Amino acid sequence: MKAVYSDRHRLHSPGTVVEGGVARPSRDVPARLDALLRAVRRAGLAVVDAVDHGRAPLAAVHTDRYLDFLAASEGMKHGPLAPAIFESRPDAYRPDWSLIAKAGFHLRDQLTPLGEGTWQAAYWAAQVALTAAAFIREGERRAYALCRPSGHHAGRDFGGGATYLNNAAIAARALAASLGRVSLIDIDVHHGNGTQEIFWEDPDVFFASLHRSPASYYPHCTGFADETGGRSASHLTLNHPLPEETGDEAYITGFMACLNAALANKPSVLVISLGFDTLESDPAKGLQLSIEAFRKIGEMLAKIECPVLLIQEGGYDLTKLEDAALTFLLGLGV
Ligand SMILES: [Zn+2]
Repeated sequence: MKAVYSDRHRLHSPGTVVEGGVARPSRDVPARLDALLRAVRRAGLAVVDAVDHGRAPLAAVHTDRYLDFLAASEGMKHGPLAPAIFESRPDAYRPDWSLIAKAGFHLRDQLTPLGEGTWQAAYWAAQVALTAAAFIREGERRAYALCRPSGHHAGRDFGGGATYLNNAAIAARALAASLGRVSLIDIDVHHGNGTQEIFWEDPDVFFASLHRSPASYYPHCTGFADETGGRSASHLTLNHPLPEETGDEAYITGFMACLNAALANKPSVLVISLGFDTLESDPAKGLQLSIEAFRKIGEMLAKIECPVLLIQEGGYDLTKLEDAALTFLLGLGV
């Protein structure tokens, strides 16, 4: 099994972000990927560099105006760009808006600033996912995309939750176009609201998300169990919200339900949005998983027939991230 990586993720260093009106240092620091790299090396995976697949696969998921907005922020020298206002009227958009106006339109929160290297880092995170997807398309059974920044809160026309381009969705759509039906399971502690929005009406991609209930948790507005897909993809979305106190046993039961539903869709590939922020010690303070839960998830994935593409999402406990990832990979039997 190969792990795909790009050192360009280091160009993205968000600094201070604002959550719920309170300023704090961003948890999405480059050291996260250093920990994950150590884990994949300890597990014996070959680490390969991402290959550039261009902008077209990104535009198959995101709007051109959103990609243009992100790209226009490249190289800004006057500090990070973050919304000063929020404009939520869909028809209000003007192409001649300033970048700060577009930030208020395209970005959903103040956790997602654009620095001078953010576009490059996000572009290459998507290329990491596409390179790993290409290994699956060429016949490999497993591949691991070490993406940073993460992607699952980014929708067609918006970014949020410290994510800009939806790496998992970009890979899933590219694979669906060449191999047919894809199932995607999101096991990050936060609901994958961007991924859900992207595939809401897409009959080719089944999406399941297992996450802390949004009742009092990011992303707040979506991730409830009665959200099951749009008219043309009815019941192809499955949300499995969990209460804050959920530990290993209830989580594994929930994961099994998501896995069974995903496999019932008879996918050519299973994509996993892989978050380690469900750990009880994670500063995201979502659920109460032990590191051993990741071994069990890996073992369950090791038993399935179809190829598995792993796309890295969250995970912020720098003291345990390496061990969590290594334990998962050993469970997977790589
Ligand atoms: Zn998360």
